[in-house]
This record gives sequence, C-alpha cells and structure tokens, in this order.
Amino acid sequence: MGDVTRRDTLALVVPIYNEEEALPHLVAEIEAFREGRSFVTEVILVDDGSDDGSSSAIKQLAARLRGYRLVRFARNFGHQLAITAGLELVTADAAVVLDADLQDPLHVVDEMVQRWREGYDDVYGIRKSREGEGVVRRGARHAFYVFFRRFTGVDAPVDVGDFRLLSRPVIDAYLQIGEQQPYVRGLISWLGFRQIGVEYNRPQRVRGSSKYSYRKLARLASTGLTSFSNRPLRYAVRAGVFTSVLSFVGLVWAVTTKILYPETISGWASLIFVGFFFGGVQLLFLGIVGAYIGRVYDEVKARPRFVVTHRWDSSSDEQA
Ligand code: UDP
Ligand code: MG
Repeated sequence: MGDVTRRDTLALVVPIYNEEEALPHLVAEIEAFREGRSFVTEVILVDDGSDDGSSSAIKQLAARLRGYRLVRFARNFGHQLAITAGLELVTADAAVVLDADLQDPLHVVDEMVQRWREGYDDVYGIRKSREGEGVVRRGARHAFYVFFRRFTGVDAPVDVGDFRLLSRPVIDAYLQIGEQQPYVRGLISWLGFRQIGVEYNRPQRVRGSSKYSYRKLARLASTGLTSFSNRPLRYAVRAGVFTSVLSFVGLVWAVTTKILYPETISGWASLIFVGFFFGGVQLLFLGIVGAYIGRVYDEVKARPRFVVTHRWDSSSDEQA
C-alpha cells in the first residue's frame, strides 16, 4: 500500500496549549527549517483552548507566511485530541507531529523524511536522553512504556512519544478509529504499518513550563492501558477469588479456635487488619471497574470529540 502512495509533500502538526512564550521561537525555527525544503507545504497549529494569547500570537506571527493554518478549540480538550484535530486537516502526503516547545527538534525531521521516502509509513522519534526532566518523572515514564508493552501486547516502542512522521495511509487509518479518548501513540502502533525509529536527544523546552501536570500524565497512562487491555478486570476477578478463599480459611480457623479454646479473647488487631485489607482491595477493584465503565460511557454518548470555535488560514487571513 505504502509503495503506491506519493511521498512528496509534508505537513507539520503542532498541538498548542498556553505556549504564547514559545511560539515566536517555534515559528522562527519552522521557517528556518522550511528554507530549502519546499516540500513542507503545511503548518497546522491546533490551539487546545489556551487561555493566554496563543491564538492571536500565531495569527500575528504567521500572517505573512505561507501555508499556516490554525484551529482553536472551545476549551482544553487535551493534547491527544489536539493532535487528532490537526491530522484531520492534513492534505499533504505525510505529517510530522511535534511539540510547540521545540523539545522535538526539527533537524530530526530530515531523518524521518528520509526513512519515509525509503518506504516506512510510521517513523517515530526515540528519546535517547531527556534534558531537564526529573529522575522520578523520567523513570516513571520509562517504566510505564515497558509495562504498557508487556501488559497490552501492542508492539509500541519504549520511550517514544507523539513525535513521529505518519504517512497518508496511516493518517487515514488512524482517523477511522474515532475513539473518544484516543491514545495516539498506542493506536498508531496498533494499526501495524511499517514502522521504524529514529533516535534523538530531547532538549529542554524553550520557554515556559510543562503543560502536562501529573494528573494529566496519570490520565494519559490510564487511557493507554484501558484502551488496549482488559487484563486489569481479569486480575480483579482473580484477586477477588483469592481473597474470598483466604477469608473462608480465616473463618474456619477462627471458629475452630473458638470451639477448641473457648477462653481465647478474639484478637482486635486481626479484625481491624482484615477489615482494612478487604476494604482496600474492594475499593481498588471498584476503581478499576469504574475506569472501564467510564470509558464505555464516554463512547456510548458519542459526543463530538472536540469543539472548534475558530479557524484561520495564513493565505486568506479569513476568519470563520
Ligand atoms: N498540550 C496540549 N494540550 C494540553 C497539554 C499540552 O495541546 O492539554 C501541548 C503543549 O502545548 C505541547 C505538547 O502538547 O506542545 C506537549 O506538552 P508539554 O511540552 O507541556 O509536555 P512535556 O513535554 O512536558 O511532556
Ligand atoms: Mg514539552
């Protein structure tokens, strides 16, 4: 399939959330990159409901530049949906998704394009090192990727984010999935196109601070796992069976001691322990079940995945 498609033009897709400070650098870098690379025909910027001046900054910066497009969400729908909205607009033969903070260096795009022209359809960036990210965060992320692979059986590479080149067939296939809360990197791997990695060192963000709070990261991890595996549910059942058997044994033991030694004072500590333990196990697994029900609920409602309030195009400078 990949061999019959054209491999000429390229779009850049950039999700943006409160990046006003980084935007001048971003646009400057993109323009420098486009010099001598006329195949970069589109730059699609998705403002994920920023409440700083990101959108107006883009319009100012790109007003005279070729091929810039902006869509603005009504509110913050999240990084993954911003990427999805950007991909919907791509008309080029491929797209590279990159962060607004220049943590995904443009010089890597050259190598991605080269791989794509060799015939690969999904060329992802592998983070060889990460500057300025705490050990805890880095370790947690790495552990998650390893865990995700093992757990879901999806052939998703480790230490790979959303910085990647997607060919037209991949974009089309991805857009057909239509999940309410897409886990982009997992879904792209799941599609199964010919994929290859390109290593790079991840620099610090150019301006501002990370827009991914720990809460957002945790939510992304949960989305990733629940969208690719029912295993937590099966574990819940197993743990339920195990603790039931255990409690039955405990019951038999308690009754026998009571009968054999009627003078024993029943232990308060063990009772408390059992109460806490089973309470904890039940809450945990109710939580897991809840996470899945939440996903089902979201899908069933079938609401639009995001709401666009504003579109803008650098060539026409029209507003809609
Ligand atoms: N982003 C977004 N919506 C969000 C959070 C982040 O579109 O709700 C964008 C952000 O502007 C950036 C990219 O997603 O372009 C990655 O975010 P960030 O750099 O804050 O994450 P980190 O690099 O710290 O993981
Ligand atoms: Mg970043």
